[in-house]
Amino acid sequence: MDTANLKELEDEILQHPGVFDPEGVHHEFADGMHGQKINIDAIPKEGSLYAELVNAGIEFIYDHYGPKGLPVALIGTANGANRFAISMALGIPKISGLRSEKYPTDKKKVRLNSIARSMMSTLRSGLVLVIDDIGTKGSMSVQVAHEAELAGAGRVEVMYLMQRRPRLEHLDEADIAYSAIMHRYLDTYSAEECQTNPNGFCARSWELIKHGK
Ligand SMILES: [Zn+2]
Repeated sequence: MDTANLKELEDEILQHPGVFDPEGVHHEFADGMHGQKINIDAIPKEGSLYAELVNAGIEFIYDHYGPKGLPVALIGTANGANRFAISMALGIPKISGLRSEKYPTDKKKVRLNSIARSMMSTLRSGLVLVIDDIGTKGSMSVQVAHEAELAGAGRVEVMYLMQRRPRLEHLDEADIAYSAIMHRYLDTYSAEECQTNPNGFCARSWELIKHGK
């Protein structure tokens, strides 16, 4: 998919009803940052936009890794990216689509589900690609990547559908490579900055929706 088509896909996603926070509303993300949320969950699995996103992902994986360096497994980052990992894996021969899950007691923590855990030990030598939807700091996908390593994965990288900040510091700090199909840099602040920066959403009295609400 060329740049113009990706830009079109990006716009289509952000304009899809329920995906992007409207003027006057912003969210607290899992990592504590504040910004207008991109809610990929609002894209129905049955629609053409979902299929386009999955195809863009498959194409990206081939362009980026293939055909000889293709990953052996895709693991979704719970919860939203699991369906993309499964759907993309179905479109690439010999790749396993696997899931992670949130801890029942702590929604900010993610682990591999039992199937993914047991698969890791059989995939030792290959690349495992963690799939996540929106890249803000990398705090969720870094957990999935570490869990995959602990479970025996040989090499782990992360791929986002969309990256919303230029650097994802949690992945940089962990020295885990990451890429994104689309890049759309959006104002994203720490909770403090959001109040103190005159451009901050809290500073401008935009409604704040707390994480998990
Ligand atoms: Zn705020």
